[in-house]
Amino acid sequence: MKQQLIYKKIGIPKALSYYNNYPFYYGFFTSLGVEIVLSDKTTTAIINTGTKYVVSDTCLPIKVYAGHIINLLDKGCEAIFIPSLQSTGYKINNCSKIRGLPEIIRNVINRPFTMIEPTLDKTENINFYDFCAETAKALGITDKKEIKKAISFGWEIYDKFMEMTQSGINYKEALDNAINGKFIKKTVDIVKPLSVVIMGHGYNLFDERISLNLIKKLEKMNVKVYTSLNIPREKSLSALKQLGEVQYWANELELTGTAAYYLLKKKVDGIIALSAFGCGPDSLMVDEISYHCKEKGMPLIHLTIDEHTGEAGFVTRIEAFIDMLMRKKRSLIVKKADVVKIKREKILTGTVK
Ligand code: SF4
Repeated sequence: MKQQLIYKKIGIPKALSYYNNYPFYYGFFTSLGVEIVLSDKTTTAIINTGTKYVVSDTCLPIKVYAGHIINLLDKGCEAIFIPSLQSTGYKINNCSKIRGLPEIIRNVINRPFTMIEPTLDKTENINFYDFCAETAKALGITDKKEIKKAISFGWEIYDKFMEMTQSGINYKEALDNAINGKFIKKTVDIVKPLSVVIMGHGYNLFDERISLNLIKKLEKMNVKVYTSLNIPREKSLSALKQLGEVQYWANELELTGTAAYYLLKKKVDGIIALSAFGCGPDSLMVDEISYHCKEKGMPLIHLTIDEHTGEAGFVTRIEAFIDMLMRKKRSLIVKKADVVKIKREKILTGTVK
């Protein structure tokens, strides 16, 4: 007999882990028969609300997260999924804010609701199955078969999503397709005059309000944009190792690993690092990759964002960077043409055999 659900609906904030994990969450919860209620897209109002709840020197993504929790509560959500993602591998840690997310929310939001707060901590042997089983148990499901089925449906959707993004389908389209049971892949890679890779957390980069639409802005400038979703994790891990670095942070592959891959492949003209003001892990990771960029002559710009970041200044910095990349590329083409010309002249005048 099917077990009775304690909660038929679960709220998921469109923030933090939503951006990378929602395809899995969607498959997992729907397989358990739980309806998902998502918060609205991030707006300035959501940011302002979240900012009121947490101390001012907290990073922007946490303020945004608090704003999304309020948004879900205003929609009448009784149970909200707030995972504590401590470590995603042995001694591969998240920052203290992501680790302590349920505690932060409990202490700053004083409104009645149930937190579904499972822990993932591979360093302490609390593995992915335990994480999912704890989630399901809080919803009233303890049947192992049902939990395993939900996990495998979650992975099925997640894998399709990743296959689509790795083929070049953009984040939003791949997400919509994956949760609607559609599967398409890009077969032709469009070449553009310039290409860049953005190293940044999914929750900063794919949230159009937080990133001030960075990807679309670059695409409008006719720039090809790569992100961590375009390459498999194994490739970014191997690139990181080739640079002599180790994976310490849970988001290391999204940031340094992705930048390392494109840097070593020489597949891009420049690297854009996007991070939240005051983020400790990001500042270390950006420093690390900046060092390798300097060594290899790869241009890098570091854009930091907070709730006060103005669009005009942000655009000016991007435009200046793209302009510089274009000039660099042109001068390289001219230099190459000069070398060919000199070689040809030498052959014609008989100075080179
Ligand atoms: S990794 Fe940085 S940006 Fe993300 S939650 Fe932690 S401190 Fe904030």
